Amino acid sequence: MKKTFKIILLVLVLLALVFFLFVPQYIDRSKNKSTLKGPFEKVSWYDSIPFIPDLHCDALLWDRDLVKEHTYGHVDLPRMQKGNMAFQVFTIVSKVPSGINIEQNDDRSDQIGLLSFAQLQPPANWFSVKKRALYQANALHDFAERSGGKFRVIKSKADLKLFLFDRAVDRTLSSGMLGLEGAHCLENDLSNLDEFYKAGIRYIGLTHFFDNEWAGSAHGMKKGGLTPKGHSLLRRMEELGIAVDLAHSSQNTIEDVFKYFRGAILVSHTGVKGVCDNQRNLSDEQLIKIGERNGLVGVGLWETAVCGTDAASTAKTIKYVADKIGVEKVALGSDWDGAYEMHFDVTGTPLIVTELLKLGFSRDDVEKIMGGNIRDFFLKNLPE
Ligand SMILES: [Zn+2]
Repeated sequence: MKKTFKIILLVLVLLALVFFLFVPQYIDRSKNKSTLKGPFEKVSWYDSIPFIPDLHCDALLWDRDLVKEHTYGHVDLPRMQKGNMAFQVFTIVSKVPSGINIEQNDDRSDQIGLLSFAQLQPPANWFSVKKRALYQANALHDFAERSGGKFRVIKSKADLKLFLFDRAVDRTLSSGMLGLEGAHCLENDLSNLDEFYKAGIRYIGLTHFFDNEWAGSAHGMKKGGLTPKGHSLLRRMEELGIAVDLAHSSQNTIEDVFKYFRGAILVSHTGVKGVCDNQRNLSDEQLIKIGERNGLVGVGLWETAVCGTDAASTAKTIKYVADKIGVEKVALGSDWDGAYEMHFDVTGTPLIVTELLKLGFSRDDVEKIMGGNIRDFFLKNLPE
């Protein structure tokens, strides 16, 4: 009897070991695939583009050491260096309903609690969206600390200016900023916002895939606008200098933000209905309003955003936005590591440059789209 018990215990321990060692990595590998493998061809002047940034990636969601190079997933420091990627916004995903779709989701289920358990995060994270969001923010600072000075977190204009200065002499330097996907991780308490600000959050998408206490989602049940609490959230974001990311917001929320928010507006990862018509993407009227507000539109790399996954599809949408609202208002918003199969990881960024040139953009315009626009937006809108 005693022996049987010992064997059962041993088997259970082994099973747990296999689960915790392999399952989180397996999920990452299977969710964040890229179909093309580099090295990729690039124009002769690609590596001399001074500042290539990207507005959106979810790398912090996965249990991947970003200091080391991986054969899976889309972003890590060595691959950022290979792709001449100077600045990446790392966005925080803290709750995802099961069976997510772009049409309609409620908030009753959640897959990220299970993922944080499988990744052996502290038990508090399994049950708290706020704790697991702050845990991811902290993971970016930890990554910077372990990078041997090669990666730093940008929180202010001064940080960005210093980084631009240093990177002009050392092209191996990279940087990152933090953003939130969904204000639900404030756990219905506005006073939590200051904690997120201190952690470095500099833009907030008010909603992710479901309606929350603050605003309606494009993929929610009711798709309403700002709630009264949402208005107070925007006031505090204006005071702190946090931008609003309109990605995933309902039409009503987007209209309310235009009407009631006086701070900076961007769309971190999106497509446009004019090229790829679905619930997820921006209408021409929305684009024009973003343009009028000197906002920035980050164009994605995945199927639902641009109706294709190759660099040419992304370039086509970039051109559409540039033609509608100006070449200074469009940028890259990849959604790498956002659980989509992509054509290429961050090392494939040169492919987008090649496609933009094919569409007739000048080198000057390409350098704006692939860098200058995001640099100027944050030099203008980050806190001092
Ligand atoms: Zn997203």
